Amino acid sequence: MTWQINRRDWLRIMGASAAAAGVGFNPALAAAGQPAPLASPGEGGGFQSHTVAARTTMANRGPCALVNGKVIQPQRELPVLHTTDVLVVGGGPAGVAAAVAARRTGAKVALVERYGHFGGLWTGGLVLLITGHIVKGGKQVCQGIGEEMMRRLEKLDGGIINRRPGVDPTVDAEAAKYLMVEMVEEAEVKVFLHCWGVDAIVNGNDVLGAVFESKAGKQAVLAKVVIDATGDGDIFAAAGAEFEHRTHNIGLVSRVGNLDRISPPKPAEAPSNLPPAANSAQAKPPAPKAPDPLRRLGKATPAPGVNWVNMRGPEVDGLDVETLTRMEMNHRKFIWQNLQKIKANEGFEKIYLVETAPQLGVRITRVLLTPKAVNYADMQAEARLPDVIGYGGGTSKAWPIPYGALLPEKLDQLLAAGRCIGAEIRMADVVRLIPNCFVTGHAAGAAAALAVQDGCRPRDIEIAKLQKVLREQDAYLGEPAAS
Ligand SMILES: Cc1cc2nc3c(=O)[nH]c(=O)nc-3n(C[C@H](O)[C@H](O)[C@H](O)COP(=O)(O)OP(=O)(O)OC[C@H]3O[C@@H](n4cnc5c(N)ncnc54)[C@H](O)[C@@H]3O)c2cc1C
Repeated sequence: MTWQINRRDWLRIMGASAAAAGVGFNPALAAAGQPAPLASPGEGGGFQSHTVAARTTMANRGPCALVNGKVIQPQRELPVLHTTDVLVVGGGPAGVAAAVAARRTGAKVALVERYGHFGGLWTGGLVLLITGHIVKGGKQVCQGIGEEMMRRLEKLDGGIINRRPGVDPTVDAEAAKYLMVEMVEEAEVKVFLHCWGVDAIVNGNDVLGAVFESKAGKQAVLAKVVIDATGDGDIFAAAGAEFEHRTHNIGLVSRVGNLDRISPPKPAEAPSNLPPAANSAQAKPPAPKAPDPLRRLGKATPAPGVNWVNMRGPEVDGLDVETLTRMEMNHRKFIWQNLQKIKANEGFEKIYLVETAPQLGVRITRVLLTPKAVNYADMQAEARLPDVIGYGGGTSKAWPIPYGALLPEKLDQLLAAGRCIGAEIRMADVVRLIPNCFVTGHAAGAAAALAVQDGCRPRDIEIAKLQKVLREQDAYLGEPAAS
């Protein structure tokens, strides 16, 4: 029998055997007569690399000049990367909820995120505890897209624990990242990762888009409505909106493993043959107890034997780059050294640091000044607001969120969502909780899409229409008024 091997088969065989031999054989290059790149030691073969363009420079380059000691950025045209109805900047809990809601309400949506994953502090910051999602003994106020996420996490193996009334659930960061990819893909949101929003495009009072910095240089995304879900209000600040600049505690969350392999010594029992005086007030007071290492090892996560450890950290300015650098470096050193001390305790030798959060725990920085703000008096009075767009939890009472808390005072075509919305300082710590960010993200997304649909400014949309859409999307807007 004669074997006939054509050129394609021959290349396939050579590719497979070269890969098996750990050589970076590239059939395309071989076919083009180019030499195969050398495989780097230890990496094995099968890599491919081509020259896209030779001797090129960046098309949209516009370097700054140093003029009389001042750095001057020249005026230049920026390429438009994308044009859409609603642009959401920031893919944290608020941004993902906003993007999905805007899309489900019928708008074309682009979601732009500086990192390579969704979830913001929730996943990148390893803040795994969903506080106030199910209100103790009362109503569950976070419903809609936030609740949908919790339900879907329940269906993922190892996605979530403690999903029951009165208890704050804890999620797995990887499951949450996976879920959010699934949800934005299902909604057909156009996504750009690795793009850092650095400027706003403004004409008069109208925000028309944002400028992003990426490996491709500076590019613009144009939109009819922009939602700032960056947590730090980067876009509304760049657009010129007024805000309050606040400080807060900045920590760094970590995860510790092998907690199912610790065996702390049992507390020594009091000898039973001591005379009664030994247990009386005259007896020598017991030596102070060494701090229980377990108390410093955080709370359980869905991963067996792995805890997440929260950190308060000092109150500092999360907009100051030198402070952020110092926090990152100090916190990482502290976490490592602290764990070594805990490991030195008898029975704790096997614990180890799984990871420190890739993202620093910045709680609050810029808070938008808005026509209305989330406030304590409304919570205390259990006020029923005509422009309510959701309720927040994490407190003994639910508190109403007015639509006005998402709008800048003067600028148009812009909404805020998440931890940077308008809120009195005493409410800021609950506004920033993850379920409440889902709620404001959901509302901002639906509102932006309605503004596009009705061709009006976000501040002019019909509130009753927004409330109807939100209810149709399973959001909680309070109990119907008793007739
Ligand atoms: C240490 C710590 C502990 C916490 N503990 C809890 C807790 O136990 N329970 C709880 O419910 N909440 C807790 N929180 C609060 C909660 O994690 C955050 O407030 C919440 O994640 C905020 O959501 P967000 O979407 O508004 O912002 P973020 O989660 O900050 O998301 C913002 C997103 O925008 C992106 N982004 C930022 N700037 C830009 C830009 N210029 N261009 C493009 N993208 C950008 C970020 O990368 C990020 O993905 C804690 C927070 C911290 C820091």
